[in-house]
Amino acid sequence: MKQWIDSLRKEHQLPDEAYKQLLTCLDADVTSYLHQQAREVTLSCFGNKIYIRGLIEISNCCRNDCLYCGIRKSNTQVERYRLTKEQILECCKEGYALGFRTFVLQGGEDRAQPVDWVAEVVQAIRLQYPDCAITLSLGEMTRNDYERLYKAGANRYLLRHETYNSTHYTTLHPKQMNIAHRLQCLRWLKEIGFQTGTGIMVGSPHQHISHIIEDIRFIEKLQPQMIGIGPFIPHQDTPFAQQPAGSVDMTLKLISIFRLMFPTVLIPSTTALASLGSDGRLRGILAGANVVMPNLSPATTRKKYALYNNKASLGAEAAEGLDLLGKQLATIGYEISTERGDYKKQL
Ligand code: SAH
Repeated sequence: MKQWIDSLRKEHQLPDEAYKQLLTCLDADVTSYLHQQAREVTLSCFGNKIYIRGLIEISNCCRNDCLYCGIRKSNTQVERYRLTKEQILECCKEGYALGFRTFVLQGGEDRAQPVDWVAEVVQAIRLQYPDCAITLSLGEMTRNDYERLYKAGANRYLLRHETYNSTHYTTLHPKQMNIAHRLQCLRWLKEIGFQTGTGIMVGSPHQHISHIIEDIRFIEKLQPQMIGIGPFIPHQDTPFAQQPAGSVDMTLKLISIFRLMFPTVLIPSTTALASLGSDGRLRGILAGANVVMPNLSPATTRKKYALYNNKASLGAEAAEGLDLLGKQLATIGYEISTERGDYKKQL
């Protein structure tokens, strides 16, 4: 097993069977070797610096009905909100003062925040903060819309493919959605010039290990600049309310595998990971992640952006808790970087 890990570090790829065995292996020695190798690669590429991104959740209104998601259209229990342009700019102002140089605008697919409006917001941020990166995570759009947002000044786009297997995809999404279109969106984003992120939920209902191998192969082909991997966590008002949460250990292993496959890719230690255990963020970093995304949304709306139960948004998960995050990182020998932290193929 350790030879496979060495080979993955050197050659950046493995046969399907090797991935499968690594992911299902319960030997603690092997797992800690995997994390250690990934950590060494991260340290050699980025030093002990962790990039921070300020996450602004701009709307919890969504026209989609993804079965896993707490803000899905059919969930009538959600108190819906949408931020105004002024509120978003206020978040940026606060974030900039705290040291953030990347703002991530994430939200549901909200028709009342059409692309014209988003482009206007992006332009305003671009104008006021020319030294900052703007990341969007607003779901599927037309190629034209993506182009407009890029021209307005957005630099990066996060769109997890969620699962590459089309049968599995249909068990997680309503009929109107399909994996082919999601992949098309990802190709458009890359062609347009966005630094593009994709990724999956680990342990989503009906996920099989063979699906994860398909995800690894897809990501290998796409060559994204960012990879977001987080455990699935049930939300009480969705059809998946009774499903178990995904495995933290499996999530950590995948983070390490992707680090060894793509030494310089940007990998967040995700909020979902942090939500399943207070040491989740740090464990993600010790498995090879190099980005964290503290919550910069207004305090009044944070609780309303509930993608899953008990989503962490306070303490070190909050932008204003940056000092605490810094202290926690220091306990494992890392520190916050206030650089923009763009993707670089070679460092
Ligand atoms: N509307 C945007 C942003 C979605 S929220 C889009 O479609 O891309 C960002 C990510 O949260 C999703 O891509 C999904 O992977 C994750 N997510 C949603 N519900 C979740 C849940 N119940 N558990 C864990 N992650 C979840």
